[in-house]
Amino acid sequence: MSIADNLKYIEERIAAAAERSGRRREDITLIAVSKKVEPARICEAAACGVTDIGENYAQELTAKLPELPQELRKHYIGHLQSNKVKLLVGRVETIQSVDSERLAAEIERRAAALGVRQRVLVEVNLGSELRKSGVAAEQAPELVERIAAYPHVEAAGLMAIPPQCDSESEARRYFERLHRIYVDIKNKKIDNTNICLLSMGMSADFEAAIAEGSNMVRIGTAIFGSRT
Ligand SMILES: *Cc1c(COP(=O)(O)O)cnc(C)c1O
Repeated sequence: MSIADNLKYIEERIAAAAERSGRRREDITLIAVSKKVEPARICEAAACGVTDIGENYAQELTAKLPELPQELRKHYIGHLQSNKVKLLVGRVETIQSVDSERLAAEIERRAAALGVRQRVLVEVNLGSELRKSGVAAEQAPELVERIAAYPHVEAAGLMAIPPQCDSESEARRYFERLHRIYVDIKNKKIDNTNICLLSMGMSADFEAAIAEGSNMVRIGTAIFGSRT
């Protein structure tokens, strides 16, 4: 299947899932996850209408940037170390993997130096898995409040990768939980935040995520094929 065919199929499924949850296709942002995908194929996706891409490695993204359309919005979705923050601030639309105050402080420092405001999401470790990054669900509101104290960082929502699930109903329980936390934080209307993004759902589970309120899905394999 070509990238164009894959995208057409994904688009139809996102539109149908959005409709089932009482929303429109435009209410959901599709991020085409392009880690380990060469720039020519990313450009091919952009030519088919992709507006947002997600990358997991700061150096890989930096290397690809000169070959990517400038108007393509880049999102950083990988695990992030403080020493890589400088490669991302001011260059990406969102940093979706903020899971510590220390990281937020470094983003503040770099954004202030550039005179920009960097949009971030707080990554939540829904299954409390030791191998995965992200804050515990119960700590997410506190981290958002701490980020709100940084003038050059805009907390815009939450991101999560749920544990491997055997069934759709199990995955939906995780997504439902994250949606509840998201709504609670949004309803607090914390100053200097703009909580509007709930980034959940990947190739295998994006329809379940949309059913539970996701408005940003991150899809790699189903668009570009398997990463070898
Ligand atoms: C790789 C990755 C994705 C995309 O996963 P697929 O299963 O290929 O769709 C989404 N989110 C994050 C954080 C990832 O690392």
